[in-house]
Amino acid sequence: VTVRVEATGETGAGVELTFSFRNKLVALLIVVVGVAQLTTLIAVLLTTQRSVRQTVGEELRVAESVFERLLSTRFLQLTNSVQVLAADFGFKQAAATEDAPTIRSVLENHASRVDADVAFLVSLSGSIVASTIDPQIVDAATEVSAMLSAMQQGDHAAGAMYLGQRPYQIVAVPVFAPNRLASLFMGFAIDDVLAREFESVTGLDVTFFDGGVAAERHPVSTLAGSQREALAALLETLPRGDDARSVELELDGERFLTATRSLTPGSAPVLAVLQKSLSVALEPYYQQQWQLVGVFALTLALALAAAVALARGITEPIRRLAEAAMRIGEGNYDRRVTVTARDEIGRLGATLNTMQDEIAEREKRIVHQAHHDDLTGLPNRWLARDRLDNALRRAARYDKPVCVVMMDLDRFKQINDSLGHHVGDVVLKETARRLVARLRRSDTVARLGGDEFFVILERADAESGMRLLKHLLETVTAAYDLDGIQVSVDISAGIAEFPAHGDNATTLLRRAEIAMYDAKGSHAKVVVYEPGRDEGHFRQLAIVGDLRNAVADNQFELHYQPKADIATGRIDHAEALIRWHHPRFGFIPPDEFIPVIEQSGNIMLMTEWVLKTAIRQCRAWQAKSIDVCVAVNLSTRDLLDEHLPEIILRHLDENDVSPARLQLEITESALMRDPKYSLEVLSRLRDAGIRLSIDDFGTGYSSLAQLKRLPVHELKIDKSFILHLSRDTEDAVIVHSTIELAHTMGLEVVAEGVETRDGLKLLQEYRCDQAQGYLISKPLAAGAFAEWMSASDKRNAWFQDAA
Ligand code: C2E
Ligand code: MG
Ligand code: MG
Repeated sequence: VTVRVEATGETGAGVELTFSFRNKLVALLIVVVGVAQLTTLIAVLLTTQRSVRQTVGEELRVAESVFERLLSTRFLQLTNSVQVLAADFGFKQAAATEDAPTIRSVLENHASRVDADVAFLVSLSGSIVASTIDPQIVDAATEVSAMLSAMQQGDHAAGAMYLGQRPYQIVAVPVFAPNRLASLFMGFAIDDVLAREFESVTGLDVTFFDGGVAAERHPVSTLAGSQREALAALLETLPRGDDARSVELELDGERFLTATRSLTPGSAPVLAVLQKSLSVALEPYYQQQWQLVGVFALTLALALAAAVALARGITEPIRRLAEAAMRIGEGNYDRRVTVTARDEIGRLGATLNTMQDEIAEREKRIVHQAHHDDLTGLPNRWLARDRLDNALRRAARYDKPVCVVMMDLDRFKQINDSLGHHVGDVVLKETARRLVARLRRSDTVARLGGDEFFVILERADAESGMRLLKHLLETVTAAYDLDGIQVSVDISAGIAEFPAHGDNATTLLRRAEIAMYDAKGSHAKVVVYEPGRDEGHFRQLAIVGDLRNAVADNQFELHYQPKADIATGRIDHAEALIRWHHPRFGFIPPDEFIPVIEQSGNIMLMTEWVLKTAIRQCRAWQAKSIDVCVAVNLSTRDLLDEHLPEIILRHLDENDVSPARLQLEITESALMRDPKYSLEVLSRLRDAGIRLSIDDFGTGYSSLAQLKRLPVHELKIDKSFILHLSRDTEDAVIVHSTIELAHTMGLEVVAEGVETRDGLKLLQEYRCDQAQGYLISKPLAAGAFAEWMSASDKRNAWFQDAA
């Protein structure tokens, strides 16, 4: 029997399983018991029936010989009586008289003495001399003459015959006086008395028939009337003769084993039909048969009950086991399997219990692992999120604030890179330990991954969270000794408050993170989320996401702003400035999207587009004889790409533009980010013949001494110093001295943001080399720029005015 457990998740499956298993078991037992019983029953019935039939056949044979003995005893008796009478002197005298009445009287006398039923005297000529019955009846009996001739051979003859309607046993002897003068016949009636006597001795039914004309005579029989008639109808078919076999007959619904004997030979013999009722003999057998069937049914019922009980005994524990397995499958481990049996199923139950314990244990471990951070043992992002959801629900119910804090270690990457991951791990663990130690038990501290931690302060608003955090961070970031090295980390934290800054976990987490990045950017340790920042953040995300499309769909455009030679008014330089017409946000100023794209790490995509477009434009203008050197701005990150020089040179080469036609503007802060590395890239660019310019000079912290070592040609003084030059004497001093110093270092100087003539005049005075600004021209689209260049009046307007 195969037990198939199907994990359908429905409890019905289990019930069905045990149900059919149990049914099979019951059916099997019933079939085995039933077949065994039925075979026994049939065997017993058949054997019994056969033995009953045999017994009846035996009885019939015995009865036949009894019957013969009985008949021959009567013949003997008759023979004696007839011989005594034939030898009687008185009788002889009477017979000699030939006086019929006398003779009949003697015959009657004698017959009654020996209980004979009939006697008659037949003359030698065959005529009836005297008779106790009507002589005409005797005359009609054909057997008389047969007996007479039989007597010729011996001294007497015996036989049976019908006289009238009745059969008789007849014996005949000759009468001598002294010569033979007649034959004496004497007979016993074969009647009911004989039949009954026979029946009482043998228990068999007997019927006497006239073998010749049976139908005309009433048979003598122990059978009931209807059976007697039925037998008469079948008479012709009965087998005759002394060695004839017995046959089975049905008479009026009763079965008989039947044997036939003929009492005398001849054409019309008296037949004796001996019968033993099979129906009667089988009656006890049939009763026994029903008893047996009863016993059979009873046993079967008992077997059924036993089988059901047994099957339940086996399947019930299995059902419970299946149920338990299903329970375990559903993750319910608190109930134990109770199978008390000591057999295999009991062992299986015990195994299931052990399995359940082990699964529960393992699951607990896995759940813990799934919800906690391996390194610090703190809740992980998933659990933190869950706790936050719960905290928010509670807070909403009791109308209390929740303070959500996002933290990030500053310069953690540097610790990892310079001191190794091992130290990084120790720092993270120590930070986690300190955070947990200094917060309330009811607060949640989680590690979201990397160097990011997350704290939930329940029943605290942003203000109290701010106070708490300032104090907390002081102690958490305190330096500590790690194998002789003093390690300290700074932490930036962002706070968002429920419900002021958001009513759900996702929003609060995002806003706390935005606040945290603001903290990093502003050098403040802790910053509370500022409403509206999120939207800006969204816009930033969209900008980053849309960059690729912008390049592919030509959403970018370059505008060109001329740079003029202050001394001569000549214009042979222009700065390429990018413009983005965003399909959703419209025009986005480069100051907004460039830092965002730079942060996303994809700036090179944009820079390459700018370079390619600017170089192509340069080539197009060249063809129109507009000779300008185009300046392209580079971002901080562009300088970190070691392939930058090759990319630029390849584009120049492909468009057949000389490197001298290209200028690169690099902001001061970009150069100072990684001066050694930038130096290498810049040197390669300069060596290739490209002009380099330091943009926004004055906004960073570099000194002219540092700049001296850089392979640049030009300084662009930031527009913040130029815009108010004529009004601000301090600016004027700075600008003047910067120009002087730059010149002594052999650098050309460009002033950007020249808006006024006064400003331009001062710059001329300071002998600044170039000017760029709205006074000369705003940045122009390529077509407008070409037009502007070719319209000399427009182009020179500023110079003439200034002059
Ligand atoms: P930047 O390189 O210093 O460019 C000069 C900026 O000053 C330009 O602003 C220009 O329109 C503006 N400007 C020029 N003359 C005047 C003036 O007389 N008065 C005032 N108030 N402003 C003037 P813009 O086009 O908005 O560009 C801003 C900054 O975006 C640029 O500063 C540059 O750093 C960056 N940028 C622009 N295009 C690119 C680019 O293609 N690549 C990179 N990496 N940065 C770019
Ligand atoms: Mg610039
Ligand atoms: Mg600038």
